[in-house]
Amino acid sequence: MPALSAWPARLALALLLVVLSSASVLLWRQLEGERQQRLEERLGYQARSLARQLESTLHLEVASLERIARLWNSLGRLPRAGWEEEVAHALRGFPAYQSIQWVGEDLRMRWLLPLAGNEAALNFRLTADHPNYPLAMQARDSGEQRFSNSFELVQGGRGFVLYTPLYRDEGGARVFDGFLQGVFRVEPLMQQLLGQIDRDAFNLELLENGHSLFRHGQVDGAPGLSQRVDLQLLNNRGFSLRLSPTAQLLAQLNTPLPGVVLGAGLAISLLLVAALALALENSRRAHALQVANRRFKVEATRREETEQRLSENRERLQLVLDLTDSSHDGLFIFDSASRELLHMNQATYASLGYRPEQFAQLLRDDPEKLLPGFHRWLEQARQAQRDNLSRIFQRELIRRDGSRQPAEINTQLVQLHGREYLIAVSRDNSERLQLEAQLQRLSQLDGLTGLYNRRYFDQQLQAEWRRLRRIGAPLALLMLDIDHFKAYNDALGHLAGDDALRKVSTVLQESLQREGDVACRYGGEEFAIILANTGLEGGEHVAARIHAAIAHLDIAHPASPLGRLSLSIGLTVVDPVSDEAPGELLAQGDQALYRAKHEGRNRTCLWQPAETPE
Ligand code: GH3
Ligand code: MG
Ligand code: MG
Repeated sequence: MPALSAWPARLALALLLVVLSSASVLLWRQLEGERQQRLEERLGYQARSLARQLESTLHLEVASLERIARLWNSLGRLPRAGWEEEVAHALRGFPAYQSIQWVGEDLRMRWLLPLAGNEAALNFRLTADHPNYPLAMQARDSGEQRFSNSFELVQGGRGFVLYTPLYRDEGGARVFDGFLQGVFRVEPLMQQLLGQIDRDAFNLELLENGHSLFRHGQVDGAPGLSQRVDLQLLNNRGFSLRLSPTAQLLAQLNTPLPGVVLGAGLAISLLLVAALALALENSRRAHALQVANRRFKVEATRREETEQRLSENRERLQLVLDLTDSSHDGLFIFDSASRELLHMNQATYASLGYRPEQFAQLLRDDPEKLLPGFHRWLEQARQAQRDNLSRIFQRELIRRDGSRQPAEINTQLVQLHGREYLIAVSRDNSERLQLEAQLQRLSQLDGLTGLYNRRYFDQQLQAEWRRLRRIGAPLALLMLDIDHFKAYNDALGHLAGDDALRKVSTVLQESLQREGDVACRYGGEEFAIILANTGLEGGEHVAARIHAAIAHLDIAHPASPLGRLSLSIGLTVVDPVSDEAPGELLAQGDQALYRAKHEGRNRTCLWQPAETPE
């Protein structure tokens, strides 16, 4: 904007400069003009005054000669002495005379004064071939005085003649009696005129019909400044005076004022415009500076705010990071492709016994050693996110010492700037898992004896049934019941009964030697034992061992015929087949047990297919 708006102002300044300069030049020209005019006026005045002076001088002589002529005409031809007296008087009064002479009617020289210097003219006769002859004739005929044009005098030099006609009276008739001639020399006439003016100040020239007759000074010295005034000498209009100033006068009159005015005017114009331009530039700069200042201030404020926000955000971020460090859960974020860590909190590596760089390096270089099944887990996490399923995975992390730590890992994949990041929150849930396992086990156990309970027994029977059917292996089932236990309770009390139940249970548990064998408290003082992958022989062997162990316990039973505690066992052995249910097996065991009771107790009876329930 400033660059654009500067142009009209600059244009205005340039215009102002032009106007002011023009005004200065105009003023200068006017002053110069006035000076010239004054000079011309003075010159004109001087020239006119000189011309009038010359005219009046000559006219005085005209009058003087006319007076002599009047005497001649009225008194008759003057005696020579009288004439000479009159003429001498005239000559004395006017030094520019070459001579005053009388030329007779025959136009021949008669009398002449002064004689000295004019000897050559004594024999003069005005003849028809003389240039003045026609003029002389005009004077004679008109009776009026006439000035001649200039001519070369016989005495030398330039001169001119005033013809004054003379007449004599002859019998009443006016008879021409020649001319009284005043011969004037140009040189002294002009010298006399020059005496009237400052010779150093003016150049003076006498012209006759444009031709120079006399010259003083350098007439062409100041062309255009000369003043020419025509002289009126009676009839003669051919003479003129030309006056011009000398260089000296011009130098005197030459005032420095117009030049000073012009110089000062131009200088002032320039200074004024320069000052205005400076002021304009200053104001433009000030404006630009102001704008820049404002912008700078706004920018500074914005930067301050941004820095403030940035600092707050940084503090908040640090706080968040610090807070994540205080968490017991591990939090780590990494690039899923390069597995470069973006962030992790202390719990992530410290709980596993790593230093931060060890954890980062392991994750990047060999993630399977840190989290077995890492790549599958990553794929599962992606899949779960796509399908909007739970993204909590139960995995195991490998501690620095090589042990495993169960971890519940919550995952979130984030796409950012063309990269995929995985945010993982891991929690060591081994305690919870243990607790859950314990609860699970407790729910399967009998509270009094610590053996599995009936619910677990049913599940286990189903499971073993299916497993053994798959592999085509036999299964033996023992159903056990303590003999005369009601009586035992009655005799020794319920607490003693419980105690006996625990002891029997321990014996049962200890009598099982193979994995997969399960002993459970089936109810009251009844027990059941599953012997997987066991045939008749094995079943009978275990049953016998139980009887022997119970006998070895030797728990006194006052109400039993044996005197000690005993139990009866029903044994059944099957090869699980597809359509048979394990419920049938239980019924067979029960039936075999019933038979053992019936046949005298403290024995094992094998289920017989021929048997039929009562
Ligand atoms: P049999 O030889 O025919 O089995 O005679 P029995 O007395 O054992 O007969 P029965 O099986 O009918 O009796 C079961 C008795 O077991 C009843 C009850 O007093 C006793 N009993 C069942 N559960 C418990 C228990 O948890 N604690 C104690 N102390 N006694 C129990
Ligand atoms: Mg019973
Ligand atoms: Mg019983």
